[in-house]
Amino acid sequence: MRRLRFLFQAGVTIAVAIAGVCFAMGWARTSVETYCPFGGLETAYALLARKRFTCAAGELNLALFVAVVGLALIARKAFCGWACPLGAVFEWTGRLGRRLFKRATFQGLWRIPPRVDAALKILLRTAVTATILAATWATGELVFRGYDPYYVLFSAHGHDVRIWSYGILGTLLALGLLVPMAWCRYLCPLGAVLWPLSAVGRMRLERSEEACTGCGACDRACPQALDVSGPLQVRSGECTLCLECTGACPTPGALSLHLSGAGR
Ligand code: SF4
Ligand code: SF4
Repeated sequence: MRRLRFLFQAGVTIAVAIAGVCFAMGWARTSVETYCPFGGLETAYALLARKRFTCAAGELNLALFVAVVGLALIARKAFCGWACPLGAVFEWTGRLGRRLFKRATFQGLWRIPPRVDAALKILLRTAVTATILAATWATGELVFRGYDPYYVLFSAHGHDVRIWSYGILGTLLALGLLVPMAWCRYLCPLGAVLWPLSAVGRMRLERSEEACTGCGACDRACPQALDVSGPLQVRSGECTLCLECTGACPTPGALSLHLSGAGR
């Protein structure tokens, strides 16, 4: 499953990078912005209020946003863990940081206390999301292109990308080395929108107290640095169903995936 997920992530990432180059060279008419589900939310207001889409965002963005929301209600943040090219890049960066700094977990260089971590996730991501939506809805333009790491990374020096845009991208990647998944955990606006839906998502990882030996391998493997070995169910809205924890667990039957409400 790990290999399959890596192939999936790599395939999507390469495909989006190729799409960015094709658009920049004039070989294709579709920009990488078109594949961003968050663009669906950005353009929703303009569509309702002005009966037109915002800038480059269009029907595909809206369809992807609806699909990702629907997916979150079942498979939580599976989009982030399996299909988001930026999530993949930040996960690989986090793995590199873990090796460089010889860390046993994805906690990063500093262990952020759980309450501070939860507060940062809510406050920072809400602030980022509200700012982007307010500015986009007020201007009718995708004004944050130059700051958006997805666009800067995959657009092949697209419209509105400046030198400082690469500075922001580089800073975020460097931060991702020190605090794995920092963008996803603390700043991503799509992550903020999906989080409450993911928290009530039907698919859950369950831990068997009888089988579990308490070795903590699952905690060390979790890219989101979640507490897997503590609760009987992973209920966090941050779980991406990446299944790294089940892959790392040495005890058969200790961790398993369940669809809640399905005969239980
Ligand atoms: S709890 Fe398991 S499935 Fe969820 S994000 Fe962590 S490693 Fe992935
Ligand atoms: S890796 Fe498996 S056995 Fe070890 S603590 Fe986690 S669930 Fe329990």
